Amino acid sequence: MEYEAVIGLEVHIQLLTKTKIFCSCSTDFGAAPNTHVCPVCLGMPGVLPVLNRQVVEYAIKLALALNGNINKFSRFARKNYFYPDLPKGYQISQYELPIITGGYVDAYIDGAFKKIGIERIHMEEDAGKTIHKPDGSYVDLNRAGVPLLEIVSLPVMHSPVEAVAYLKSLKNTVRYLGICDGNMEEGSLRCDANISIRPVGEEKLGTKTEIKNMNSFKHIEKALEYEIERQITVLDDGEKVVQQTRLWDEKKGITKAMRSKEEENEYRYFPDPDLVPLLIDDEWIKRVKATLPELPKEKFERFVKDYKLKEEDAKILTDDKDLADYFEAVSNGYKNPQVVANWILSELLGFLNKENKTIKDLLITPNDLQNLLKLIDNNTISGKIAKSVFAKMYKTGKKPETIIKEDGLVQITDESEIGKIIDSIIANNEKAVQQYKSGKKNTLGFFVGQTMKITKGKANPQIVNKILIRKLEE
Ligand SMILES: [Zn+2]
Repeated sequence: MEYEAVIGLEVHIQLLTKTKIFCSCSTDFGAAPNTHVCPVCLGMPGVLPVLNRQVVEYAIKLALALNGNINKFSRFARKNYFYPDLPKGYQISQYELPIITGGYVDAYIDGAFKKIGIERIHMEEDAGKTIHKPDGSYVDLNRAGVPLLEIVSLPVMHSPVEAVAYLKSLKNTVRYLGICDGNMEEGSLRCDANISIRPVGEEKLGTKTEIKNMNSFKHIEKALEYEIERQITVLDDGEKVVQQTRLWDEKKGITKAMRSKEEENEYRYFPDPDLVPLLIDDEWIKRVKATLPELPKEKFERFVKDYKLKEEDAKILTDDKDLADYFEAVSNGYKNPQVVANWILSELLGFLNKENKTIKDLLITPNDLQNLLKLIDNNTISGKIAKSVFAKMYKTGKKPETIIKEDGLVQITDESEIGKIIDSIIANNEKAVQQYKSGKKNTLGFFVGQTMKITKGKANPQIVNKILIRKLEE
């Protein structure tokens, strides 16, 4: 039987606010355990939560970026469950009236954008962290009350590739908006996947499982691939898929059953009586809209249109806002943006990726890179020498002019100087000269190579070619 996978994603993003969602404790990552806490986020009796305005603004920003509907009346709800790192015994979230419904993510798949629908986005507080050690388990409540947005997609994706494209686009968008750093390893962007399979042509959804604990795009893709295959095997064996939560085991490359999945009604949601309903007016939305930056898809389209870049190049550049900014800074006042893109995508990213670094670690200023390109254009150095100069710039942060001067790399363009060198090569290689004259024109490469060897690659290639042909044909 042929099956089709149906995937829906639940993404939690941790917001970059300075303080928590219902108190003024710091959200800084990595502080000593239980130092960013107060009676509110410790869940003491008699305290009252006060909503952080910035959290609402960030949610509005995301709604505008994803074309979602901003609900002018929304409400917080208590999601009741017991866990050691949840001191109140409930998490403040939103349930029947979330702040955002609808909208879509523009996922880039096979060279085109595809709209993937969103069901809802709601605000909630994070729980604390339980750390298991050999001598016992410890609870750190620094994270309790850190603001999150949960973005729930519609179950409309059908392959792991689609799911990853959706996530990449979402991550890029929240980073452009400056509302989340998107760091999956530190957990500021977390993804759970709901997945089921059904016979091709069938409308009804199959029984789903939820996969947790995937902290990179690679793991998500692998986990989904594994789970699709596992469910197909279960059905083919004549058994039933059990609704459950499964954990991705990265080392073994499998998903493992963790617990049976809760039904929504087990959480006993009810409106939080400590918090008034949230009202948002048009004025507020308008004010936030005025602060929206250029979004990834807009930037991509502008790069293709204004800089005439190849689409695949524009995509890689705009997938990282810092990289896109760097490209624009180098291109500003330079005649050929595609050349800039080529250097950034091959040389620059080559070095950065090899050392697992980002553009933020780069020592080369945009101005210095532009100057390097100009030095090629005005024949001061050849393209080949420029690559070795670039490697030194990358290591030391020195200006190209300085490196060229220090290493004596200025290109030789003096025709009489090159002519003398070529004369001596011709005199010493009679046999090759005869071969050339007898019609073996590819012997020219040998002479070019000899000239470059003697000049340490500094002779201008066009001039070398011109003089060689002239002298050999004399
Ligand atoms: Zn607090």
